[in-house]
Amino acid sequence: MEERWLVGVDIGGTTIKMAFISLQGDIIYSWEIDTDIINKGKHIPASIARSIDQKLEELNQTKNQLVGIGIGAPGPVNSEDGSVEVAVNLGWERFLLQTILERETSLPVVVDNDANIAAIGEMWKGAGKSAKNLICVTLGTGVGGGIIVNGEVVNGVNGAGGEIGHITSVPKDGSPCNCGKSGCLETVASATGVVRLAIEELAFTNETSILRDYYDGQPLSAKRVFDAANEGDELANRVIGEVAYHLGLALANLANGLNPEKIVIGGGVSKAGDTLLKPLKEEFIQFAFPRVAHGVKIVIATLGNNAGVIGGAWLAKEKLINKLVLQ
Ligand SMILES: [Zn+2]
Repeated sequence: MEERWLVGVDIGGTTIKMAFISLQGDIIYSWEIDTDIINKGKHIPASIARSIDQKLEELNQTKNQLVGIGIGAPGPVNSEDGSVEVAVNLGWERFLLQTILERETSLPVVVDNDANIAAIGEMWKGAGKSAKNLICVTLGTGVGGGIIVNGEVVNGVNGAGGEIGHITSVPKDGSPCNCGKSGCLETVASATGVVRLAIEELAFTNETSILRDYYDGQPLSAKRVFDAANEGDELANRVIGEVAYHLGLALANLANGLNPEKIVIGGGVSKAGDTLLKPLKEEFIQFAFPRVAHGVKIVIATLGNNAGVIGGAWLAKEKLINKLVLQ
């Protein structure tokens, strides 16, 4: 039989990443389209369907070539019907993504949360390769998470499993979080959190810092803070130390409950590499149960923006091919 393709889709607030992927997890063709958020995101499934058709035509292929679609959405997903509870960025509320996309494409569809499919992607082809027990944390504008136990994503009872970003890190007087709580890990370990901590530190002291000169002229970014830390700036190093402390504490406590083989750190902030990883490992070891610390490797994600589409393809392969065989 000629090799068929999986379709991986990763919906973001501004772009939708899409790819045709082989059954072995190799990207055959990838592209992206703008996210059409007008009318509360109601046209998104139709625009995905249209784009798949166009791409097949360009590549001289037919829909028979495709096994099905695995798609990640930026919000909690009900695994029973593949609906998205809420996705603020897109305007979705109780959105029947699986049903609508199946109707629009005539293909079977599997839906999961975007952070979960990124974790699956890293498990299948990235930094988590071969690990069946892993924690994946994405440090971007927010903090996303995916937890895989025995090769299966932890979705939980109502789709909120793996919400690592909302672990309480500052129990008293923490900064407000988008989720309605305050003091979440996201408020200190996201790119936004790093910048906020730096600005607070600059306001708190008069000491000289490279960041003070930057900050006077232009907006601060997480990258600037890490660059300054690399150049030996003490204030910036304190800020990174605080980020590493909170992240190390949260990940160690999670790991104490899960005993994972790998912890994969992804997202824009992870580009800091060793500047983040070194202090993070030091903090982690302090708080992890010794046998847990001994069993785990903390690594930087390797798939970048492709993690989501590859994880989506894996889901399609696991959930749809098995289903086809059974029928
Ligand atoms: Zn939160």
